[in-house]
Amino acid sequence: MPKGGLGLNLKLSVPPPEEVSKFLSQSGTFMDGDLLVNRDGVRIVSQSSYEAPPPIKPLDNQLSLADVDTIKVIGKGNGGTVQLVQHKWTGQFFALKVIQMNIEESVRKQIAQELKINQSSQCPHIVICYQSFYQNGAISIILEYMDGGSLADFLRKVRSIPEPFLAVISKQVLRGLIYLHHERHIIHRDLKPSNLLINHQGEVKITDFGVSAIMASSSGQANTFVGTYNYMSPERITGDRYGNKSDIWSIGLVLLECATGHFPYKPPNQEEGWTNFYELMEAVVDDAPPSAPSDQFSSEFCSFISACVQKDPKDRLSASELLDHPFLSLYDDLNVDLASYFRNVGSPLANF
Ligand code: ATP
Ligand code: MG
Repeated sequence: MPKGGLGLNLKLSVPPPEEVSKFLSQSGTFMDGDLLVNRDGVRIVSQSSYEAPPPIKPLDNQLSLADVDTIKVIGKGNGGTVQLVQHKWTGQFFALKVIQMNIEESVRKQIAQELKINQSSQCPHIVICYQSFYQNGAISIILEYMDGGSLADFLRKVRSIPEPFLAVISKQVLRGLIYLHHERHIIHRDLKPSNLLINHQGEVKITDFGVSAIMASSSGQANTFVGTYNYMSPERITGDRYGNKSDIWSIGLVLLECATGHFPYKPPNQEEGWTNFYELMEAVVDDAPPSAPSDQFSSEFCSFISACVQKDPKDRLSASELLDHPFLSLYDDLNVDLASYFRNVGSPLANF
């Protein structure tokens, strides 16, 4: 390491002498062995290459909020905001979700514990949670950045999604659900188009599992939590015991909405949508379940949706049973390219 390295002025208007420039990266970061210096400060990293430090991996526990720059706000939900952020040292992009929450110490500990459990998720169809913090009355969660945004964002552009693409999307979502239900024994509880995220590689991943459960169960928040009830299964609405199958109901409604371009329960007054929350709840509990119109969709798709939206949870198929449903292999011969569909049809992708 050169003597006096920490005092280097990196904003040289003349090209740095050769003996200095060999320590500078393109972005002006001074690097020598384990030492990095840029306009944000000094950092010791445990690697010896002169190139950018290795990308941060899940469970590295290396991320801190001071190490990321905000690029822009990419979304707002009921609970808080989501920003695109960039890691100062590695250049990696992440999504930072901030949920305002003034809560007592004991609840905070419980939430931190639950978020730690989320962090250890290892499935290609679950959005990676890198780290979570509680600071100044807010929970901040650093998530894998999905550059296509959510299926809700995508649907706003394309209106509806043709069956062959839906078959590939369904496969990925079901693999994520199989992981949550059968390997982790977790019920998502809040599956909806905005919690299914997509990227330019044609990947579909489930996000926000656990967050809604935490919000709903933590004492201070219980009464103020307003998620959407649109995709909630009849047994949850009526307050019965519920399990994994309640997620299957939700996913059936989501996929039907993707196929038809509208939420499956039609409001009495089409112009206004569902203005009365109780009327919608009543329709879900009392009416026959929605179905895919057989004159517009394959019999396989209609049967797949029907297997998800049975009103009695016992009659619904499980995620792993659904993965064997004939709808999912109906279009295998077409070699569907979901990546170019997301890139070209939804172009530009929501968050680009
Ligand atoms: P609610 O708060 O009712 O659950 P929501 O799911 O839309 O609604 P958020 O989870 O805060 O609310 O997400 C808001 C938006 O931010 C999403 O619709 C999506 O467009 C974007 N978003 C969320 N997470 C990510 C991510 N990891 N990568 C890219 N975009 C994201
Ligand atoms: Mg969400």
